This record gives sequence, structure tokens and C-alpha cells, in this order.
Amino acid sequence: MDTVNVKINGKEYSVPAGSTVLEAAKIANIDIPTLCYLKDINEIGACRLCLVEVKGARGLVTACVYPVNEGMEITTNSPKIRAARKTNLELLLSNHDRRCLSCVKSTTCELQKLCQEYGVEEGHFTGVKSEYPLDESSVAIIRDNNKCILCRRCTAACTQLQGIGAIGANDRGFDTHIASPFEMPLAETTCINCGQCVVACPTGALYERDDTKQVFDAIADPTKHVAICAAPSVRATIGECFGYEPGTDVEGKMVAAMKALGFDGVYDMNLTADLTIMEEATEFLDRFQNGGKLPLITSCSPGWIKYCEHYFPEMTENLSSCKSPQQMFGAMYKTYYAQKVGLDPKDIFFVSVIPCTAKKFEVKRDGQNAAGVPDVDVAITTRELARMIETAGINFRDLADEKFDQPFDIGSGAGAIFGATGGVMEAALRTAAEVITGQTLEKLDFEEVRGTAGIKRASYKLGDVEIKVAVCSGTANANRLLKAVEAGEEKVDFIEIMACPGGCVNGGGQPVQPAVVRNNVNLREKRAAVLYNADKNLLNIRKSHENSAVKKLYDEFLEHPGSHKAHEILHTHYVKRGL
Ligand code: SF4
Ligand code: SF4
Ligand code: SF4
Repeated sequence: MDTVNVKINGKEYSVPAGSTVLEAAKIANIDIPTLCYLKDINEIGACRLCLVEVKGARGLVTACVYPVNEGMEITTNSPKIRAARKTNLELLLSNHDRRCLSCVKSTTCELQKLCQEYGVEEGHFTGVKSEYPLDESSVAIIRDNNKCILCRRCTAACTQLQGIGAIGANDRGFDTHIASPFEMPLAETTCINCGQCVVACPTGALYERDDTKQVFDAIADPTKHVAICAAPSVRATIGECFGYEPGTDVEGKMVAAMKALGFDGVYDMNLTADLTIMEEATEFLDRFQNGGKLPLITSCSPGWIKYCEHYFPEMTENLSSCKSPQQMFGAMYKTYYAQKVGLDPKDIFFVSVIPCTAKKFEVKRDGQNAAGVPDVDVAITTRELARMIETAGINFRDLADEKFDQPFDIGSGAGAIFGATGGVMEAALRTAAEVITGQTLEKLDFEEVRGTAGIKRASYKLGDVEIKVAVCSGTANANRLLKAVEAGEEKVDFIEIMACPGGCVNGGGQPVQPAVVRNNVNLREKRAAVLYNADKNLLNIRKSHENSAVKKLYDEFLEHPGSHKAHEILHTHYVKRGL
């Protein structure tokens, strides 16, 4: 690797040629403040918080876009730099609503933190202020331009990661603001509710619709039976809201916290991830062996489903008809379980805690009401559950581990890895391979479909047949893959698609990490490692079809995978939305 020698704050360093000053400073263990910079997707030098001095340069330069060269002398902290950064923060605040007290981002807001660090007072610059109405049209995402600093991290996420562009910068000069094309309400655009803009936003200008009040009210209602189930990846991330390092498994504390909140039942969605595999693997084998529509594409990511309905409506027939694990859980709870314990489905309030803002849209879709009432009443994100725990005064870190409630407490390792890109495919392959060959798999790890690459491809010989699979995450990657499939350039039998880059561990409902962490820590990998560790080392069962609780559901109620009854309760349909 070519390197150059630079001096940073008087000390010498050798850094890769082509680095920016920001990257070089990181090597010197110096964090230069940024607000707009997101590595690879938003390197635009717009917020001017990363100003530094470079000897010989005219004025201060923006470290995020300024390249280093041999012999460069850089100063990252001086009275001049601090004064300039402070002025820029004051300018940002001059057109900001500054209602930190009730802001969802207070204490985790990157703007607030920098203002506190630089001693910024309110009202230094006064004058005309913009006022924008909230965009509350979406069931999942709320936009508040009064808190926007025009850093464009959201639009970079929506355009570059997701390939959508549902939001962007409209108008010019003082009137510049983030909005949808033609000022359409977000709900009327092709927004897929993925929340990648929310986790990219440094301020409280974007947030999920808060459904926690509905859940608190239901818990307080003595006529309601209130149950909750936790998606596989929530246990791998919620610890971050309570100061744990990314990649810490806090399943036991998470369960204890949900019980302390007063839910009547606290369950593990890993179980219905296994149920999904039973249905989806059966559907795949049926289509593969009987000339059905291929490639089959997974259907557990509701952001991906809406993307498909908008951008590839002709491919909705390729989608698996399986409901997502969240919806299967609610459907089974309000049919099988309600019948078993004598509950009226109308008296059940079923909550899911999920890594995903798009699940808020999914619970309201047609065809998600097996018992004649919504399968799931409310979907709350990891962040919302953390807020509920804080509001209830539960000291998360001091909780003793507890276990999920029976009879929905058994999940396999295959179910656990659903939360990472490639996990659904690997889980399905474990089951499909044993069904096709009639033999026990010697090696359960399908490593080719693991990892955080945007598109992965693999081919497996199972008995006499060869199955070609592809896995992709992030809808910009899905677009590339599906265009190749449509053009006949890509021959594939089975595709897993997750809307969020890296899968649910990096979902739009997950804890928001500041840019300094996002840019320097591989969150996707660290969080996914929790799930692969559970699969390999913690769980007794590693294949969905060996889950005894799932077998019981079929024996007592569903009959067999793909049965008429299973279709009535566990399957759904899609719409062709178009653009
Ligand atoms: S976005 Fe940040 S600075 Fe603005 S009101 Fe919210 S917490 Fe305060
Ligand atoms: S939720 Fe996703 S699709 Fe919608 S605006 Fe945000 S990033 Fe774009
Ligand atoms: S909404 Fe958030 S991410 Fe988007 S430009 Fe405004 S402050 Fe930046």
C-alpha cells in the first residue's frame, strides 16, 4: 500500500495515500467532528463542522473531502478552528426549533452533543426562521423539517443504499428543505418504510411513529390479554440502548424487561422463523419439483415486499406467499393459542418488537387477519421497546436473565440467524437439503451465503439436483440482481432479499449509532455475530424441522406444511402497486 507522511498536531504519521484528512486523523486516534459525513455514501463537505487548518492552504479546509499529500501539516484543534466550528453550529441552530426537551433524539442527537461540547448558546443569530408542517402521512416514518440541518444523510441512504429517492432536497437557498418529489406526502410515494433514513439522521428530524402509548394502554386494560414476541435480531442490539457494546447478546435481560413491563406472555419469534422455513421450504420444493414459478423469492422483509410491488410488480408472483414470522406469530396466537386456552381473539392485544419500521406498515396490510382481527395489533421497534423500559423505570443492566414463556419458547439456530443477511436462505437450505436427499446433513453451515456483501451467489448439489441461490440486502442491490434475472443474465432458483443492507441487524428500527460509530465500526458484522454464535453454541437445535414446538403446532393444528389450513392461516397475497 502506498503511504504518505503527514504531521497531525505536530506528530508524524504514515497514512495511506489517497486518504482524506478525516481518515488520516482517525489513524492518529483523533475524531474530527462531522454532521453530514457518512462513509461511502455522503461525502459532501456540506456541514463544515470538520474544518481544520492545513499549512499553506488558504483558510480552513473541510477534512472529510480534503486529501492528504506528502509532508502535509495538519492542525485539528486551535482557537481559530473551535471558533469557526462554533459559528457554524450557531448558524445551524438559528433555523432550528431547538425543542430538545421532548425531542425523540435528545441525549443521542449528534447536533445537541456538538452544541454542548462547543458551548453553543441558543439565539446567537436571530432572524427569519423556516416553519414546516410535520409529514405524518406514513404509518411508519414521521418527518420534521423544523429539526433538519440539511446534512442530506437521509437522502444518501434512500438513494444510494436503497435506490429509491423518495426524499431529496427541494427548492434552493434559504428555502431548501427535504421533501418528496412534488411535495407529495411520504405515504403517497414509493417509500418502502425501511427506516434507513431514520438511522442515518443525526437529529430528531426523522423518527418512527411512536406506538408505545397504545401498548402501555393495552397493558393497563384489565380486559385485554397482552402478549409480545421478540424478533431474532432485537436481542443482539437492544443492549446498545443501555450502554452495551454493539454485538452484545442481552436476550435474558430483554426477556426480563418485557416481563417487568407487565405483558401476559413474552415469546420468542425464532419459533415462527422456523415455522416460516417449514412453509417456505415446502413451497420452494413444490415449485422446484413441479414446474412452478421460479425463482422463488423470500417474503419476510416487508420493506422488500413493498419495493417489489412498486418496482417489480410483474415479479410479485415470484414472491413466497408465506407471511413473515411476525405475522405468523400473531396469526397462530389468535387462532391456535386462543382456541387452546379459551381466549376470544378480540380480547388479545398482540405486540411484536422488531428491528424494522416497515413492520408497522405490514401489520396494516390486507390479508393479515387469520382470526378475523389483525394478526398483530402493534409492531414496535427495538428503540421503542428501549424507551418503554426507560419510561417504566426498569434498570435494564441490573435485571437477572429470564426465559421466554412456554409454549412459544423454543427456537432453532436456523430461526436465530434470520436476523442476518443470508440467514433465511441458510435456514431454508438446511431443511430443503434434508428433505431432498433424505439424509442428515453433515455440515450445517452454508458459508457461501453468509457475510455482509450486498449480493451473494452460490450453487448447491443436493442429491441429484443442483440448486442455484442468490442472497441480497439493500434494495439498490435487489434492483441490480432482479434486472439481471429479468434479462435472463442471472439463472437462479431461490432468492433471499432483505430491504435493509446487512439484513434485520441493520434495520431501520434498530438503535441509532452516531456517524463516528457507523463510519468506523462494522455494526452489521458485530450484531450478526451474536446470532451466528447463538446458532452454533447456545441453541440445542439447529434445523427448523427439528424444532419440537413447531412439530407440535403441525400435529395439533396445522396438519402438515403447505396444508390447506396452513395456507389459510400462514400465507398471504400481494398487490401490484407500480410507480
Ligand atoms: S434535533 Fe437535537 S438539537 Fe434539535 S431539538 Fe432534537 S435533540 Fe435538540
Ligand atoms: S423509509 Fe426508506 S424508502 Fe422511505 S424515505 Fe426513508 S430510506 Fe427512503
Ligand atoms: S432529515 Fe436528518 S438526515 Fe435528512 S437532511 Fe435533515 S437532518 Fe440530515
